[in-house]
Amino acid sequence: MKRYILALDQGTTSSRAVLFDALGGKVHAAQYEFPQIYPQPGWVEHDPEVIFATQLRAARDCLAYAAAEGAEIAGIGITNQRETTVVWEKATGRPVCNAIVWQCRRTADLCAEMTEQGQADFFRRRTGLVLDPYFSATKLQWILRNVPGALERARRGELLFGTIDSWLIWKLTGGRSHVTDRTNASRTMLYNIHTLAWDAEILDALGIPACMLPEVCECSGLLGMTDEAVFGAVLPICGCAGDQQAALFGQRCFAPGDVKNTYGTGGFLLMNTGALCTESQNGLLTTIGCSIGGKVSYALEGSVFVSGAVIQWLRDGLQLIGSAAETEAIARSVPDTGGVYFVPAFVGLGSPYWDSAARGMLCGITRGTGRAHIVRAALEAIAFQTADVIRAMEQDTSLLGTIRADGGAAQNGFLMQFQADLLGESILRPDNIESTAAGAAFLAGLACGMWENPAALQQLPAAFTTFRPALDDAGREMLLKGWHDAVQRCRIPV
Ligand code: ADP
Repeated sequence: MKRYILALDQGTTSSRAVLFDALGGKVHAAQYEFPQIYPQPGWVEHDPEVIFATQLRAARDCLAYAAAEGAEIAGIGITNQRETTVVWEKATGRPVCNAIVWQCRRTADLCAEMTEQGQADFFRRRTGLVLDPYFSATKLQWILRNVPGALERARRGELLFGTIDSWLIWKLTGGRSHVTDRTNASRTMLYNIHTLAWDAEILDALGIPACMLPEVCECSGLLGMTDEAVFGAVLPICGCAGDQQAALFGQRCFAPGDVKNTYGTGGFLLMNTGALCTESQNGLLTTIGCSIGGKVSYALEGSVFVSGAVIQWLRDGLQLIGSAAETEAIARSVPDTGGVYFVPAFVGLGSPYWDSAARGMLCGITRGTGRAHIVRAALEAIAFQTADVIRAMEQDTSLLGTIRADGGAAQNGFLMQFQADLLGESILRPDNIESTAAGAAFLAGLACGMWENPAALQQLPAAFTTFRPALDDAGREMLLKGWHDAVQRCRIPV
């Protein structure tokens, strides 16, 4: 009998389900988008019931496909948008308000106030994170302070907190499992990444009752059994990781020093640092990369706010191009940018600069500058920003292993080659760029015996394109110098 793993990939704009076979191949996928809710400028919410409904629909599509093939589901793996915060009633399962999404900035003033009081170090040392509205802690505190009666009810044990993984597992198990995994816990800013426990002093400082927090499990292992009423069968949920960590695992970055970069709307880079819990001197976050078989591996994380989004802007904002795909040929139509640099600091700069005041800039324009130079400069900017983060990771750890790429803009061969040239390192791009769902499936499959160990995952068939560096040191230095000069200029107030 065929055995499949079902991966649930709950993202920021859609809920996806993907079936994988024993060779790690994608058998079937279903995806449903859901609405974003913007109650005020800078605020972003999701309806938790709609998240669950779309996820359920996608999962049922896949299960129907498996049933038609007479296949057995060996296990379910979950991966999810991280940090997004849900609070619901233990007795009824009703959320007390909409989920507050990771992008939501409603607690910016609160975080600024705490930073002014000198609290940033306290949080950073324990959680590896910067004191920012991005993470769940202040979102949860906001709900407890602003939803009438929430704090009292939470103290009485009537309310539960969870990130999206916890919420889905609670619903899928009919309220029997209130759990999360270590990677998701490490994004809440409530979890101590050294002691591997919820941090009592942080909970105290923020006034969060410990009884509302989920039990923290390993990424691979039993997290709960589905309620029969949900899928008509009792199935083990045995894998779980936040989306970026799942992609790191799905890309098989198992060795310390291995890096994955997702070239999506933004850029998300993670380096597996193994047992090393590195405190970054270069503006990176420290987080849990994976927890499996009693062993925790840590990761350094850096984000580029505007990655593929710069190409969207060329298309929709400037109407300079018709489609993202045509940028590759346009960029190749000129030998270089003719000295043009494009710093897409539309919303400030992320790692390693963390400069929220910086704004975008196009410089080095001459009478000879044309459309192709600007398009090429935009693609190069994606690679320059990535190179800055990878260099920061290397400085922090002295480790640099294989670099693997995924996400929409990784389809661009010019970008991949330029990235390799700029780093002087090869870039591996898997033909199957379904890394996030694959990571969840691998974690579940290890727990339910589909694969024996990570070495078996390395043996699964996987085709790659390798982009090898083909630029000399002097050429690389010149490009990087031009870029860093441009970054410097966009940071100096006019
Ligand atoms: P997300 O999951 O963040 O929504 P995706 O991984 O689907 O993003 O990637 C979409 C992004 O990739 C868009 O910003 C788009 O502009 C960019 N993109 C897609 N194809 C290409 C391409 N061939 N060249 C450059 N950028 C591309």
